[in-house]
Amino acid sequence: MSTLSRAQEILGDLIGFPTISVDSNLQMIDYLREMLEKAGAEVVIHSDDSGAKANLWATLGPKLDGGIVLSGHTDVVPVAEQDWTSDPFEMVLKDDRLYGRGACDMKGFIACCLALIETVDVASLKRPLHCAFTYDEETACLGAQALVGELRNFSLKPEICVIGEPTGMRVIEGHKGCCEYTTHFTGLEGHGSAPDAGLNAVEYAVKYVSHLLDVREGLKSRAPENGRFDPPWTTLNIGGLHGGVAHNVIPGKAHVEWEFRPVQNSDYDYVTGEVRRYVQDTLLPQMKERWPDAEVITETIGEVAGLEPMAVNEARDLVLALTGENDVDVVAFATEGGLFQSIGMDVVVCGPGYIAQAHKPDEYVELSQMAQCLDMLDGIAARLAS
Ligand SMILES: [Zn+2]
Repeated sequence: MSTLSRAQEILGDLIGFPTISVDSNLQMIDYLREMLEKAGAEVVIHSDDSGAKANLWATLGPKLDGGIVLSGHTDVVPVAEQDWTSDPFEMVLKDDRLYGRGACDMKGFIACCLALIETVDVASLKRPLHCAFTYDEETACLGAQALVGELRNFSLKPEICVIGEPTGMRVIEGHKGCCEYTTHFTGLEGHGSAPDAGLNAVEYAVKYVSHLLDVREGLKSRAPENGRFDPPWTTLNIGGLHGGVAHNVIPGKAHVEWEFRPVQNSDYDYVTGEVRRYVQDTLLPQMKERWPDAEVITETIGEVAGLEPMAVNEARDLVLALTGENDVDVVAFATEGGLFQSIGMDVVVCGPGYIAQAHKPDEYVELSQMAQCLDMLDGIAARLAS
């Protein structure tokens, strides 16, 4: 059987596991573990607190620094409310396309990794090949955050990480981060006719929003030179401002939903620092002076680190050489790449299938894309053996 046929067969199995982010991924993790152990890998499983989900970390070859990580998430987005032509959890082949939930995002890549690993002569590897298969990427990269926490204490230092998110096998070296928050304001309810008897939570929420808009203006001048993102600076959006019950009631509660998308890691520190300082030094003291129990609490909905393009990036250079691509680009969607970059790895995003098909009904990956991916992975294995 050709490696491509084998990858296709494995993808059929993987699509059969309905690993929607809210559900367990353990069946798929067991399947991957068994296959990787059979191929000679040392496999470590890290469960989440609920025990219903797990990350898989595998190492093939010698226990040395300088290895290459192949990274993919095991979870998929829901299919509810989507009009599928066939069962989303049963792979269908039609006209060079393999259909099914997760086909391109990103079980196609994981299937290629597995099929390739079955062909690797482990004894020939001079540096290790690692696999990082995570849970909960589609929610807030929770699995990768936990895995990266474990890897900080890992005795080996892998050098390169390839994230197989669907890029049409184009070479991607950067994306913005995505940080989402809800900030809750607690004041004191009262009658609208006596404003001094209450503390208007909506008014303080408005001051907070006004400060966020000032911070947003400051972000434009921080845009890196020659930035390729569109727009080239970190954006900040106010997604919602809620509070109050009636015209004549002083609102005691309000909340603001907001997000920002950092183009560089220093902007994360800038925004969170500016906002924290404003609340601690200005807004909250003003509120507490009038009502000691006043509160401002920011709830983190999700923080996905950006992947910052770097002048020196071995992962990018390797994948450029292996794919024969000339161009390097940045993308609008977020991946787990920034997390791996944060622990010192060179990171590139390159995988089979197109992001336009991800999260949609009748998601598919083309066999020709899988074949290109297998070629790249073959080159990675060859490099580790040389
Ligand atoms: Zn994905």
